[in-house]
Amino acid sequence: MAVREYMDEQGFWEVETPILTKSTPEGARDYLVPSRLQHGSFYALPQSPQLFKQILMISGFEKYFQIVKCFRDEDLRADRQPEFTQIDIETSFPSRESLFTMIEGMMASVFALKGITIPMPLPRMSFQDAMDRYGSDKPDTRFEVFLQNFTEIFKMGGAGVFREMAETGNTVRGLVAPKVSYSRKQLDDLAIYVKQLGGAGIAWIRIADEGVNAAPLVKNAGAGAVDAVVQKSGAEKGDTIFLMAGPTEATLNLLGSLRLELARKENWIPQGRWNMLWVVDFPLLEFDSGENRWVSRHHPFTSPVDEDLELLETHPERVRAKAYDLVLNGTEIGGGSTRIHRADIQARIFTVLGFTEQEARDKFGFFLEALEYGTPPHGGIALGLDRLVMILTGQSSLRDVIAFPKTARAVDLMSGSPSPVSEQQLREIGIQIRRS
Ligand code: ASP
Repeated sequence: MAVREYMDEQGFWEVETPILTKSTPEGARDYLVPSRLQHGSFYALPQSPQLFKQILMISGFEKYFQIVKCFRDEDLRADRQPEFTQIDIETSFPSRESLFTMIEGMMASVFALKGITIPMPLPRMSFQDAMDRYGSDKPDTRFEVFLQNFTEIFKMGGAGVFREMAETGNTVRGLVAPKVSYSRKQLDDLAIYVKQLGGAGIAWIRIADEGVNAAPLVKNAGAGAVDAVVQKSGAEKGDTIFLMAGPTEATLNLLGSLRLELARKENWIPQGRWNMLWVVDFPLLEFDSGENRWVSRHHPFTSPVDEDLELLETHPERVRAKAYDLVLNGTEIGGGSTRIHRADIQARIFTVLGFTEQEARDKFGFFLEALEYGTPPHGGIALGLDRLVMILTGQSSLRDVIAFPKTARAVDLMSGSPSPVSEQQLREIGIQIRRS
């Protein structure tokens, strides 16, 4: 009610959009619904109303919102469900500042329900800083343990795997764990944790009372490098420095996970803090090695930063997006962007993403055509309503705040769905089940 009242006061219209839609890419797998009247054709349940809200802007609705169900067929985690609810918003002629202020006002009224005051305006952090300092694009800023870069030190270290990494364009990063002094068994367990996440392993330096203890690392990189790391890190007696080496983004992500794991084990996170911030300046694209092509980090309708546009075809990795995420206590609670409002730029993005002109027309022809009707600059955001409720009520799983939730295998245990259907139902929709 607080959200609806706030959006109403701001002059937004709540518009419902279809549930049976055409598949559009938001990065997840679609839930498909077979058509009875056109065998072999399918509707997709919306991963979000993204294109509908953009088309509403094109048709002259300047302020849209909707509290809406979205559907994504992804592997489930504690903060994911196959169907979830978004507060979905789009406006024409927005400035990023006006949108941020509006969302901050909404968050203030939502948190006021629990008597919580969040200082506004919210701080902002670039994607690069978030990755470099927290190892995450949704940084938990409630505790002050930061990642550090030690690559230069290892370039000059003794021969071994760390020097090799540092010299071949990989990175060596680490963090100081204050007042952490683990046994060999505990250190081995941490190494197993890191390997389970896909890391190669973890090196450590213990600053014990009797001196620095880092036998395996000294063997691999020399005592000089170890001393230099201790100096640079600012670690004190009783602390442990953890180090990882590898490709930059993967290493940062792994250390980011380790940072949170240590925080859980060591109770570093103070209760009663509500650290909300904007993460900005995301890269537009990332390379998907599985698919061997560039994919959008947010979605393909996100506008590139104007001055980076000329790099789109030559250096896609350097193009920044006009995208932003809203993060609370290390959880992404919202994300959005300024959209592309020109058909020629949208067509260039589809080409970079590897769609032929024909494929782009087949999939998004209706939208490319709409873009030619004098599209206003527009942008928006979607906030995860259930995630917000989960955090506000101090729960750790979405299942605790959704009525009739599904299990990690996407099953509703109560009603027993999904379930087989009768032969006649299948015949009507022209579907035969393949058993292999
Ligand atoms: N449609 C996007 C999402 O669901 C949000 C947005 O860009 O407005 O993540």
